[in-house]
Amino acid sequence: MSTASASTDAEWIARTIELAVANVAAGGGPFGALIVRDGELLAEGQNRVTANLDPTAHAEVTAIRAACQAIGDFSLAGATLYTSCEPCPLCLSAALWARVDRVVFAADRDDAARGGFDDREFYELFARPRSEWDVTIDAVRPANAAAPFDAWLANAERTDY
Ligand SMILES: [Zn+2]
Repeated sequence: MSTASASTDAEWIARTIELAVANVAAGGGPFGALIVRDGELLAEGQNRVTANLDPTAHAEVTAIRAACQAIGDFSLAGATLYTSCEPCPLCLSAALWARVDRVVFAADRDDAARGGFDDREFYELFARPRSEWDVTIDAVRPANAAAPFDAWLANAERTDY
């Protein structure tokens, strides 16, 4: 059964905005997110960067972590990530790793930029050559650089993800 009706989307999105606004009142960042599967709310998330001293504790990541703990699985296949703001590159990648089926957002990267957040800046950064970045990214490749993957592939008991 599809749970992607416009009214349902609007209701879930409304909840993400409530979470985001409430988080500001609690001293946190203006972001909220939900994970929904088969019409059921699996988890909510709010931005916890300053509260947890964790630059990766974005609302979407927080919701993904909580949803996975709630269902006891590292895959959120079949789920939808609802978020009060267009996911930044970190959160979009987290959604890809979590294998969600769908992402729905309200505000966009331009709204976030107006709020002083770097979402749009990071998207633009990824589109530029790394040689132009302020942060230096170097590869150091010893002869055994790929040894972890050899060990992984040799492990018949591995859990693919
Ligand atoms: Zn993010």
